[in-house]
Amino acid sequence: MIKYFNLKGINDSFEPQLSEAVQRVIASGIYILGPEVEKFEKEFAHYCGCSNCIGVGNGLDALTLILRAYRKMGIMQKGDEVIVPANTYIASILSIVAAGLKPVLCEPQWESCNIDPDRIESLITDRTKAIMPVHLYGRVADITEIGSIAKRYGLKIIEDCAQAHGAIYNGKRVGSLGDAGAFSFYPAKNLGALGDGGAVTTNDDTLADTVRTLANYGSKKKYENLFKGVNSRLDELQAAVLSVKLARLDKDNERRREIAMRYISGISNKLVVTPRVDNIKQHVFHIFPIFVQEREKLQQYLIEQGVETLIHYPIAPHKQQAMPEYAHLSLPITERIHREELSLPLAPNMSEKEITTVIEAVNSFKG
Ligand SMILES: *Cc1c(COP(=O)(O)O)cnc(C)c1O
Repeated sequence: MIKYFNLKGINDSFEPQLSEAVQRVIASGIYILGPEVEKFEKEFAHYCGCSNCIGVGNGLDALTLILRAYRKMGIMQKGDEVIVPANTYIASILSIVAAGLKPVLCEPQWESCNIDPDRIESLITDRTKAIMPVHLYGRVADITEIGSIAKRYGLKIIEDCAQAHGAIYNGKRVGSLGDAGAFSFYPAKNLGALGDGGAVTTNDDTLADTVRTLANYGSKKKYENLFKGVNSRLDELQAAVLSVKLARLDKDNERRREIAMRYISGISNKLVVTPRVDNIKQHVFHIFPIFVQEREKLQQYLIEQGVETLIHYPIAPHKQQAMPEYAHLSLPITERIHREELSLPLAPNMSEKEITTVIEAVNSFKG
């Protein structure tokens, strides 16, 4: 069986450096806010082309802390609105709620599955303070269009980069394309830790300072609390692991692109829609989505052919039990994506034979 994602295999491929890094941290006696986090923050800021990187506990916290920092800075008030794609992973939406703000769901473009810039303007009210593009599946959202709308209305752009580490748009990395970027280092992401982790990137020094303070109990100086903060820190072990893995991120993303292009050129089944790629650098293929009307049938068929797939995501956020206040919305593109999406296995450690098997299995599906 070709597994959807062989995480152990991925991490094995970083040995012995990974174990050496872990041993180094154990031996150091420093586990929180030490030299490994400082080093990784510098490396990741440089990688993203940002002056600041703040390691935090996870991706959801990274997003929430950015928004809470804007509230502390007086840029956003309780109940202000943030426009977010309706088809995102629910974390993007939950971060807005957690910061005391109101998520306003925007339909995506069918072709890119990213927020549709043409639909943003009609959602803007006098309470709108930010747009939160999500680079879903690893593909950069249309930042040029989003940027010009944001500029016109004086809105912040907060990038959800949790699926797009390393993707490049006009020569710049995600995380540096808006006012702030949020990353998750959940183990299965393109840059994954051995547990939870996250980061905020920004060129805004005041925002960076406020996020850092909020994430550490609202404290800059030990036992002096400026704000009612939280505890959300990247730890030394995860930072050491991430430094090892960051060194190979570009190469791994390149391999993901190669496999994606093999799929796109190899999959010829008329029942299946594959992603359209305009600019390959703008995509790091965290997920390789295909769209098919008889999704459950294809998924079962692929299992019989020895190919495991996943669905990202089976239930749209506005259809979740957790979000009854959005249940009345009609979002046909979002709903179609959630109805037809199926994710093929795609990872830098896949063999040529596995890639061929996946293509042949999809092509032999008769519906
Ligand atoms: C993974 C993910 C998050 C949340 O990251 P965690 O580290 O799990 O909190 C947020 N947004 C998107 C789009 C994600 O894929």
